[in-house]
Amino acid sequence: MKLAERMNRIGVESAFEVLVRARQLERQGKSVIHLEIGEPDFPTPAHIIEAAKHALDEGYTHYGPTQGLPELREAVAAYICRTRGIRVGPEHVAVTPGGKPIIFFPMLALIEPGDEVIYPNPGFPIYESMIRFSGGVPVPIPLVEERGFSFDLDLLRKRLSPKTKLVVLNSPQNPTGGLIPPEDIHAIADLVRDRDLMVLSDEIYSRIYYGEPPVSIASLPGMLEKTIILDGFSKTYAMTGWRMGYGVMPEWLVEAVNKLMVNSNSCTASFTQRAGIAALNGPQQAVDAMVAEFRRRRDAFCAGLNQVPGFRCALPGGAFYAFANITGTGMGSKPLADHLLYEGGVSCLSGGAFGEFGEGYIRFSYANSYENLMEAVARIKTAVANRVPVGSR
Ligand code: PLP
Repeated sequence: MKLAERMNRIGVESAFEVLVRARQLERQGKSVIHLEIGEPDFPTPAHIIEAAKHALDEGYTHYGPTQGLPELREAVAAYICRTRGIRVGPEHVAVTPGGKPIIFFPMLALIEPGDEVIYPNPGFPIYESMIRFSGGVPVPIPLVEERGFSFDLDLLRKRLSPKTKLVVLNSPQNPTGGLIPPEDIHAIADLVRDRDLMVLSDEIYSRIYYGEPPVSIASLPGMLEKTIILDGFSKTYAMTGWRMGYGVMPEWLVEAVNKLMVNSNSCTASFTQRAGIAALNGPQQAVDAMVAEFRRRRDAFCAGLNQVPGFRCALPGGAFYAFANITGTGMGSKPLADHLLYEGGVSCLSGGAFGEFGEGYIRFSYANSYENLMEAVARIKTAVANRVPVGSR
């Protein structure tokens, strides 16, 4: 049986593939430090777990409304109003199993074959995968290391066309840890405001930043009606396995997302949504403590990477990724990532897995203990010193 043609156009996420390879090595008795997967290594805060248990006891074990429980949508709307400085209501919120469906569903709902979609490169691989899957034309905009991994704005200006249907922004960013500075967000809004397009603003790392807070493009004049905010619980509350996220968007698009939800998931699990209310409305100390610990690790880990001959690592402003420029080693990203895994016992991702402009970089997730990160730096130094020079293979 032949698969449908559209399956040739869908991609994968290499973090999950590398994790499988790393686990295989571990089964063979090799020690591996995991710096590949993008999930906080902290437990979900106890009061959120308690709320889920309580919800199970209360009988939240049945189908709920496709769009999400009204009380959770109220909580999300209030949270988005206070964190983004905008006015939205529960009618603008679609709750989904994880943040990812807020890439999948709006793209399926909006993109016609031949429509162009602008997106960051290097960037979260699901953007390009879903643009292609929905028949769109991917238009990558390189992120520039010298600009703190923000867009090349001149190129963005040139690449916008009458066919541009969607512009994807992500700040703080995966894989670079970069933030789009406020002045760039303003410039991007000025470029797109009068165009017939939508902006997908992926703000899944909105609470994980180390300096100036990220600015949501939705908060700029005229942009609310054109913006889909993607956010969720996975990163902020260390809830990746709970599968809970949401989108905030104009009502006409919520309706379309509802149709895709009812055809795929029916609804997001009811008891986890009750826990989501506890996450948003309850104490936030666990989030602050997690971010403080990420900052401590970031400072030490990036300083360590900068001492590896051939490595250069800018200090990331957000998320929990270090995106090291490794061109000075003379090795390509993929061979070096493989070498670090198989010879060094450090599992990490080739920058090329995030798009062509990620070549020359390696992504390390510092969602691992301080001790393991320091050990990883020592292992990377040894592995890089023992690499086989190019040309002598
Ligand atoms: N957007 C970005 C940039 C991400 O890095 C991720 C997860 O890695 C997601 C969205 C998806 O998050 P979730 O696990 O909630 O689906």
